[in-house]
Amino acid sequence: MKKPLNIKLIGEDGKRHDGRTPEEMRPVKMEVGVLYNADGSALVEVGRTRILAAVYGPREPVQKYMVLPDRAILRVRYHMAPFSTSDRKSPAPSRREIELSKVIRESLEPIVMSELYPRTLIDVFIEVLQADGGTRTAGVTAASLALADAGIAMKDLVAGVAVGKVEGTIVLDLDEVEDMYGEADMPVAMAPNLGLITLFQLNGVFTPEEMETAIKMAEKGILHLNEMQREVLRAKYSNVVG
Ligand code: ADP
Repeated sequence: MKKPLNIKLIGEDGKRHDGRTPEEMRPVKMEVGVLYNADGSALVEVGRTRILAAVYGPREPVQKYMVLPDRAILRVRYHMAPFSTSDRKSPAPSRREIELSKVIRESLEPIVMSELYPRTLIDVFIEVLQADGGTRTAGVTAASLALADAGIAMKDLVAGVAVGKVEGTIVLDLDEVEDMYGEADMPVAMAPNLGLITLFQLNGVFTPEEMETAIKMAEKGILHLNEMQREVLRAKYSNVVG
């Protein structure tokens, strides 16, 4: 059961409970190549939300029946660490984790050039180290970076952010409190250069005008994240070449 909230989520000055303006994202940090044993990896922090993504593959599985003759199979596992939430989360996979693994896979599939790797598996592990809202969208952003770090051919990078409605105001990048007590939450992921929306979910109700504002806000946030993704990859690989 949700506890009653005794703070205002939008102040008199129009600022949010953590001091952000409605269209402001939390501070974002990205790093690639953070794990030695995985083929590709990335760490993404969005405020207090902290996500680790690791990629293995493309590789030939031991069980040969698991492959497809014309392309790689992309498998995604989204998992919340038991210590990622304020109350210990059960380590057993929940229905929510199964759903999120599926939606994250579907948001990555349009960009991965799986036809270049027939008869192989690509495994993406998304580990939520700390959760404070927006874990699926930060998961997509981290997974896309980890795939690039693994050298897997892609048509674009995808990044995601949630946009929502809190006390009647459209806000970008909801944290857990805003997600829980707000009126709407809409996680979005986009591949900006392909002009594709690869993740689009909505919990709550928007008017058509609010929806237009929300999509524009999400797009702006995603373009910013995409820029950061390119920068972090460029910084790592220009060092290798240079
Ligand atoms: P997202 O993380 O993509 O926003 P949800 O809207 O389902 O996904 O969850 C919102 C937030 O609620 C999460 O980021 C996390 O902070 C919190 N949360 C989700 N599941 C749990 C859980 N099992 N235990 C505690 N907190 C959770």
